[in-house]
Amino acid sequence: MIHGKTSKLTQSIHAGSHEYLAHGGVVTPIFPSSAYDNEGGGPLQYPRYFNIPNQRAVAGKVAALENAEAGVVFSSGMAAILTTLFSLLKSGDHAVFQRDLYGGTHHALAQEMPRFGIAYTLVDGADPANFEKAIRPETRLLYIETPSNPTLKITDIRAVAAIARRHGLLTLIDNTFASPVNQNPIDLGIDIVLHSGTKYIGGHSDLCCGFAVTTQDLTQRILASAVNYGGSLDAHTAWLVERSLKTIVLRVRQQNENALAIARYLKTDDRIGRVYYPGLEDHPDHAIAKAQMPGGFGGMLSFEVKRDAQAFMSKLALIQRAASLGGIESTIISPARTSHVKLSADERKAIGVTDGLVRLSTGIEEAGDLIDDIKQALA
Ligand SMILES: *Cc1c(COP(=O)(O)O)cnc(C)c1O
Repeated sequence: MIHGKTSKLTQSIHAGSHEYLAHGGVVTPIFPSSAYDNEGGGPLQYPRYFNIPNQRAVAGKVAALENAEAGVVFSSGMAAILTTLFSLLKSGDHAVFQRDLYGGTHHALAQEMPRFGIAYTLVDGADPANFEKAIRPETRLLYIETPSNPTLKITDIRAVAAIARRHGLLTLIDNTFASPVNQNPIDLGIDIVLHSGTKYIGGHSDLCCGFAVTTQDLTQRILASAVNYGGSLDAHTAWLVERSLKTIVLRVRQQNENALAIARYLKTDDRIGRVYYPGLEDHPDHAIAKAQMPGGFGGMLSFEVKRDAQAFMSKLALIQRAASLGGIESTIISPARTSHVKLSADERKAIGVTDGLVRLSTGIEEAGDLIDDIKQALA
């Protein structure tokens, strides 16, 4: 495996992959086998043991991109998140989560944790001290997500990691929005990095997968539960993920550029209200974002359309109205009508999710074409 000092561009092509090349080919073959010869002894290879060649190749590549020792690929982001949480927590334990969480994570916590006797507290991630205040004797871990969905709030990763160290707690981050190209939380003291690979890692809106990358020891601990829950990824999809990962740096760089160009344009248009993008100098957490996102500020931004956001969205010709994010095509949603529809109007208002707010996931099209599309839809 190619580690550490090598550049991300080189890692995205070679890390993980080269161990499984065969017959002089330059790409990993697809190994669909669910049965392997075990005549010589050693660990049994089996898809649900997370150790077949295509799984190992992609897990190795994402681990390298995140500067982690090792990692596991799952069949979805939620499989990665819940398997990891349940591998670390037991009945009687307590955990602290940032309140601005991906909707699916929020829902899963509310539904699953109490049934297993695991308590948790949700805190505002804006001030790291809130995590410390919520710590109890039975607290085991702190969990953050930055930039957050949909208003791109920034949590100070280093500060939260430092609090956890002082209290002997594990730290987990959902790094989906940033992607491994822009932000590497392990370098900032985080223990476990989680991804919905369905987004930037897959990058083409055509597959579902997830990742947990961390130390060798914690990887073994996660795997011990993962083989029971069985959220493994099949060889064909893993192979596609590996293919996708070879262009992740190029894709995300273009997505970063497009988001920044669009955010800058939106600030100049008086038909637009607030613009949320951590790359803008006037974003309240711009300085922290700059320090912890050396690769760029990401392809996600949100903004308020002052008059009739629905009419604006329906007039877009290039930008597609679709949930999910991180694909090479630009997509837009209304959080109030989709991801946050289950919240009350007051709850939505409290977190900035107004009816006029739209969330844009920039693709890799030409920035000027995307801006032209926004202009014609506003007209
Ligand atoms: C999509 C998403 C998830 C869940 O991932 P799936 O692949 O849909 O299971 C988790 N966290 C974030 C931030 C996401 O965007």
